[in-house]
Amino acid sequence: MLVDLHSHSTCSDGLLKPAALVERAMQRGVDMLALTDHDELSGLPEAREAAAHWGLRLINGVEISVLWEDTTLHIVGLCVDPESPALIEGLAGIRAGRELRARRMAESLALAGIPGSLEGARRHANNPELVSRAHFARYLVEAGHASDTNAVFRKYLIPGKPGFVGHQWATLTDAVHWINGSGGVAVIAHPGRYPLNQQQCERLLSDFAAMGGAAVEVVTGAHTPAEFVIWARYAQRFGLQASAGSDFHGPGEGYRDLGNVPVLPAGCKPVWANF
Ligand code: AMP
Ligand code: MN
Ligand code: MN
Ligand code: MN
Repeated sequence: MLVDLHSHSTCSDGLLKPAALVERAMQRGVDMLALTDHDELSGLPEAREAAAHWGLRLINGVEISVLWEDTTLHIVGLCVDPESPALIEGLAGIRAGRELRARRMAESLALAGIPGSLEGARRHANNPELVSRAHFARYLVEAGHASDTNAVFRKYLIPGKPGFVGHQWATLTDAVHWINGSGGVAVIAHPGRYPLNQQQCERLLSDFAAMGGAAVEVVTGAHTPAEFVIWARYAQRFGLQASAGSDFHGPGEGYRDLGNVPVLPAGCKPVWANF
């Protein structure tokens, strides 16, 4: 069974509408797909209809932005209830904060000699409540400030660069409680991507497990095969299950296409075993 538990649509910073995303997943042989838009559930009804049409299993998902000890983390919720009031309200709060952050990013870029980036990013964002750094990156490429989005991030959008502004996202506890409270399971997304030392990684995993977190994303487009093994060991050590997903955003973007999800290293407990 081919499982892909991390993907994005135009309801956040993906390039395909939910129905087109599901159709591509079907074409690429995916049996179980989670749509996990950033801080947003609005793509799920369209994805569900398409999944019923094409006969693949859709998992209701979300990727929640969190600030933990000064580091932005992403927590994926799987099998969440999109009708859960606490989850809906929590995500609405994060999206409201995104608006403010986008304005501050644009002000900061203007001071660095790049005017008009908010309007530019908005043109790339299909969901006006969900302007992400990816939309800024696409605009900055379009405006000729870098050759591709990876270069834009390096030059402008990561901590220490002119377009980066710190932001108070949700707390880790809130995110895990919203997910668990809606009947879902919480997964630390792409852990290898965070600027954390070993001690911080250990503290994160032990805190996360203690507050009811379920799994670590072991296989993701952001990890090398060597990192699959490192994070598989971490998951086992802290009694956490393992998840796997491409983190697909669109054709030609990112590292892995839908369903290009290698098998978990030996010894992992797949988080989807009971889905
Ligand atoms: P945000 O949640 O608005 O801070 O934006 C984060 C999103 O930016 C991620 O989900 C990716 O889609 C994108 N992103 C982050 N880092 C990079 C990078 N180095 N290259 C390309 N896209 C990136
Ligand atoms: Mn993204
Ligand atoms: Mn992420
Ligand atoms: Mn993602």
